[in-house]
Amino acid sequence: MQPNAAVTTMDFAPGSELDPTFALKMAALEVQVGALYDLMPFGTYTVSDDGTCTHINHQALVWIGCSRDAILGKTCPVGTLAAENWQVLKRGEKQLRQGLLAEIELTIKDETGHGRPMGLRLKDVDRAGESSRRHCFVLFDLTETKRTKALQRIAAMAFESEVGICVTDNHGWVLETNHTFARITGYSNEALRGRSLFSMISLEGNTHLEADIRARLASHGVWEGEIRERRKGGEVFTAWLSVSAIADRADAGTYFVVWLYDISANNTPQDEISQLAFYDSLTQLPNRRKLNMRLSEILTVKTNSSLHGALLFIDLDNFKAINDTRGHAAGDQLLIEAGRRLRHAVRGSDTVARVGGDEFVVLLSTLVADPVEATHQATLVGKEILTRLAKPYKLDGFIFNCSASIGISLFSHADLEADVLQQADMAMYQAKRTGRNSLCVFDLEMKEAISAYSNLEQELGQAVHRDELELFFQPQCNFDGRIVSAEALLRWKHPTRGLIGPQEFITIAEESGLILPIGLWVLSEACKQIKVWDSDAIMKDIQIAINVSAGQFKQPAFVDEVIEVIVGSGIDASRIKFELTESMMHSIDETRVKMEKIRELGVRFSLDDFGTGYSSLSSLIQLPLEQLKIDQSFVSHMLSRPGDQIVVKTIIGMAHSLGLEVIAEGLETEDQKDFLQSHGCSLYQGYLFSPALPAYQFFALVQSQDH
Ligand code: C2E
Ligand code: MG
Ligand code: MG
Repeated sequence: MQPNAAVTTMDFAPGSELDPTFALKMAALEVQVGALYDLMPFGTYTVSDDGTCTHINHQALVWIGCSRDAILGKTCPVGTLAAENWQVLKRGEKQLRQGLLAEIELTIKDETGHGRPMGLRLKDVDRAGESSRRHCFVLFDLTETKRTKALQRIAAMAFESEVGICVTDNHGWVLETNHTFARITGYSNEALRGRSLFSMISLEGNTHLEADIRARLASHGVWEGEIRERRKGGEVFTAWLSVSAIADRADAGTYFVVWLYDISANNTPQDEISQLAFYDSLTQLPNRRKLNMRLSEILTVKTNSSLHGALLFIDLDNFKAINDTRGHAAGDQLLIEAGRRLRHAVRGSDTVARVGGDEFVVLLSTLVADPVEATHQATLVGKEILTRLAKPYKLDGFIFNCSASIGISLFSHADLEADVLQQADMAMYQAKRTGRNSLCVFDLEMKEAISAYSNLEQELGQAVHRDELELFFQPQCNFDGRIVSAEALLRWKHPTRGLIGPQEFITIAEESGLILPIGLWVLSEACKQIKVWDSDAIMKDIQIAINVSAGQFKQPAFVDEVIEVIVGSGIDASRIKFELTESMMHSIDETRVKMEKIRELGVRFSLDDFGTGYSSLSSLIQLPLEQLKIDQSFVSHMLSRPGDQIVVKTIIGMAHSLGLEVIAEGLETEDQKDFLQSHGCSLYQGYLFSPALPAYQFFALVQSQDH
């Protein structure tokens, strides 16, 4: 409570030279006014120019903490607390007397040491007949004012929460709304003021809502429920409404306080949102985003230690096969199980994340300082993971085997620049190339090899247009050495590196997808060659075998493209033989349908590199195959390794019993040919006859044979 600053001062100087009767009256008045002042709820005191206290009322004495005798007529009260408070007042008085402020705030202490906020005002008084001025001060307690202001601030903050809040009178007329309420409803706070809450929420279907709410408020003081409300733009939305009836303490009536939650717009709780944003919904492992956060946390935290961390990039080797053969539900089961095995293979403090379809990352955050030892530790963890992941997966009534390839990249905490994830990814690809179920640690040499690889990939992309590719032809001969057909083998006439063999670039083409345009080019080039040979009496019977990559074959457009090229070229399609590999035999039905469509044209099929894959007898029977091609690895060792000899003999026997032709590749010696011939193999290909030759040389070779 603020006093009126225009307080009449009452300071009666003793010993004035007035009429004695008048003086007596004045003294009596002085006592009366003094008593009156002592009843005031604020403090007041007067000091003369020299700082002597000439008057002080009761409330001021209580607050300052001294008796009237201890201060009256003195410049400073007796007693520590009172003296300290008096000094505070003196400092305040000084500021007021400088005339800068009409009122100042200060804090004086009570006997418990607790500070009390006070306001101090000054009223200077010039008294007639006196040379010196009197300074009258009014002191008032600010405790309550400050508390109310703080409460108002808190209420305002609470009011502006993320929940829509609206206060109405007890008729439902809106008095006040917060910004969230305005945002949800689409109206401004001004536009909402004076509107009827019940008209806003009583949409079709809930016309009794107002009566329901009032009844419930009367019996329970609160109503809660789901409502449908219309936004300003007309859109109807679902909200959770909570209404409380609050009686004013000053008995000014009842208010309704309304809380509004928009559950149609965002009904996902915060933790669910973060679960979706940072965790993989299938395995519940952290996702790539979370992993990156964790990684940058580790890399940016400046630690004194030089401990190494390692990132293991893990890719399942034949995951695609399970999706293709057993469906996505089985694939999902396998991923969940793989994630579980990974979690169990590492410490709780390490991070296991799923970063792609069948790709996982393990982040080992603390290893030893010595890089060699750290590499050793990370490799041990990698090996353990390989062992665990390679164990058979028991999935819904069947067992599936699936190994993994791991790339490891080491990093130190000082290593801010390193793209650890990309390096581990590169190392993983290297592991895949060197054979599955293996791991590879990233090093600088690998970085160079990889950049060379990506350069080559770029150049290969232009090779087709720049006419740098060429087909070579390797003869395929019958038992008496006569060339009956040729395998078309790709060569790349690189502008600076000379002739490059397919071993160096077919994998790049397959991984980059370039194999699709390249494969089409090979087919159309072979067709052109056949067309050219058609005009020659000796060449017109020569067939061409063409290698087809799995990536090409699985393209949905493969069949149509093949038909278009072959039919468009106008050649006899039976002059073409496609060499497929056993990796294409996974989705047997799909493969068969595609093969049959192409077979209808007249094209034949051979199964290349036979014996190195896992094709089953049943798949061989189902497919429209013409020929099995014994892989050169068996041929080259069959005379020295009894095991390979058995494989070769078995393949030949099997081919015969299935009614298939059999050809052996990689023949280098007469002995090999004799052995194969004696066991019933009738077609041969290899350096024994000729390496792959440019078309004109192949032409000359065929012409040179005795016809
Ligand atoms: P492939 O289809 O198994 O081809 C046989 C490979 O063995 C050829 O290597 C051939 O030159 C080589 N070779 C033939 N006779 C002998 C021999 O007596 N001794 C030895 N040591 N090797 C022999 P090349 O030309 O380097 O081709 C390698 C692979 O590249 C091929 O294996 C094939 O898978 C792939 N390839 C070649 N051309 C194409 C193509 O146009 N498209 C596709 N998708 N792949 C191709
Ligand atoms: Mg081949
Ligand atoms: Mg082969």
